[in-house]
Amino acid sequence: MKVQIEDKEFTCFLEYEQIKKRTRLLGIQLNVDYENKVPVFIGVLTGSFLFMADLMKEVHVPAEMSFIKVSSYMGQDTSSGVVKSIIGLDIDLKGRDVVIVEDIVDTGLTLGFLLDVLRKHEPASVAICTLLLKPLALQREIEEISYVGFEIPNEFVVGYGLDYKGLGRNLRDIYRFIPAPSET
Ligand code: 5GP
Repeated sequence: MKVQIEDKEFTCFLEYEQIKKRTRLLGIQLNVDYENKVPVFIGVLTGSFLFMADLMKEVHVPAEMSFIKVSSYMGQDTSSGVVKSIIGLDIDLKGRDVVIVEDIVDTGLTLGFLLDVLRKHEPASVAICTLLLKPLALQREIEEISYVGFEIPNEFVVGYGLDYKGLGRNLRDIYRFIPAPSET
């Protein structure tokens, strides 16, 4: 199946049934690894909202949940010119077992920033659970990535929380961009 979003056409890549099955397995893994613990799951908005909701239904250990947003704005005091900050961290993480829930890890730069900030809160442990990982795009190894739904090629994807120009987050399945012959 294909969908058109604004100027781009996308083709179906991962169906919701596959996502659900994989999410169930991730839940089983988390239930084993966090047995007798009370982890804090932190969803990174906006993209993770559907994955977080489905994943949490598969997690049966007692757990706290929260969402944060990583905001970027242009500044003049960093080499890249982009300054990031975290909005919405409302749980004391000191001594806690933290699981960051991401929709997708691409270059890993956002996650690297997030980990640096979270470590300052002195959690007992930090693990990352991401639905999608683009191994070929990763710019540095992140050993905290312990739970991965699907490793995918270095292609742009939308749906199931992920957007293109703000649209497509409410698609049930995940779609990948089909470049026009002139764009390849
Ligand atoms: P990173 O810092 O790992 O390069 O990028 C992380 C963010 O970039 C993700 O949280 C997501 O918002 C966005 N991103 C990276 N790859 C994709 C993609 O294929 N599709 C969409 N919709 N967003 C992406």
